[in-house]
Amino acid sequence: MKILIADDEAISRKILESRLGKWGYDVVVATDGTEAWNALQGPDAPSLAILDWEMPGMDGVEVCRRLRQVDLNPQGRGPELQAHYVYVILLTSKTRGEDMVAGMEAGADDYVAKPFDANELKVRLRAGRRILDLVAELVRARELLADKATRDSLTSLWNRGAILEALEREMARSDRENAPLGILMADIDLFKRVNDTFGHLAGDAVLRETARRMLAARRPYDAVGRYGGEEFLILAPGCGMEAARGVGERMRAAIAAEPMNTADGLIPVTMSLGAACRPPRSGVTAEALLRTADEALYRAKANGRNRVEAGG
Ligand code: GH3
Ligand code: MG
Ligand code: MG
Ligand code: MG
Repeated sequence: MKILIADDEAISRKILESRLGKWGYDVVVATDGTEAWNALQGPDAPSLAILDWEMPGMDGVEVCRRLRQVDLNPQGRGPELQAHYVYVILLTSKTRGEDMVAGMEAGADDYVAKPFDANELKVRLRAGRRILDLVAELVRARELLADKATRDSLTSLWNRGAILEALEREMARSDRENAPLGILMADIDLFKRVNDTFGHLAGDAVLRETARRMLAARRPYDAVGRYGGEEFLILAPGCGMEAARGVGERMRAAIAAEPMNTADGLIPVTMSLGAACRPPRSGVTAEALLRTADEALYRAKANGRNRVEAGG
């Protein structure tokens, strides 16, 4: 495990370095606060730091304060757990109570008196590692929850809420970048018949395979969401009407190309799509855009299915 030590005194630095090396840590050394700060940037930075309080320039407490400032969430509601939480142990000869309070208030997690006692430091490091493990577990759990809240569990596409949020974001971005936004409403043709003929489980398998093919056919920056039962919404940033229709045509072809292989047999599937385009800074609302795509989809159904129609 990587650990950062920052101390301006060469001797105390060496002692610390050799100790930690013996305990199996991968030691990163800094000789002042600025170096320490720099060493703590980036995804591969150490997550454990032993900082000398008193150093010329930026001292250990200041490094701490800066670390925790970065952790402040946008609403300023206080430190937020981050994937790269740095556990900080301050090393100090200041052992007066009020000094230690100041250090902890700056965001240090622990402190060790200088000159340090090897056993004490070892114990403190173990406590720090345990906290870091817990932080990592919390971050993982939170990511998992966030993922669950935005994904459709059957297809693992964005769910309705998430794709509608993405639509609002893409509209704002298209205005900012002065580029059009294309969207497509897609609906599997005669899907009720798939369920009736092959059963609900086969229907589910078709939905999963449809999602997989759409994801494979999209461009990397297109978003695909499950809008309803067998309805999907595709966002195609930067696409005018013709380009959006092209994205839709690729998806249509990917679905119709060959029957879907399910446990209940080979099932031929087709999909109809309606395209709509929002020119940048046009003031067109999400509702209006969706309605246009929906009307185009309706026309695609009326005109014989397995086709893309453009709306507006
Ligand atoms: P059209 O070509 O006009 O769209 O015909 P359709 O049969 O696809 O249209 P309809 O809306 O009548 O049927 C949609 C069907 O999709 C009805 C519903 O049972 C089925 N469905 C919705 N969600 C799911 C799901 O999660 N799993 C399965 N297996 N079926 C679903
Ligand atoms: Mg010092
Ligand atoms: Mg439908
Ligand atoms: Mg349908």
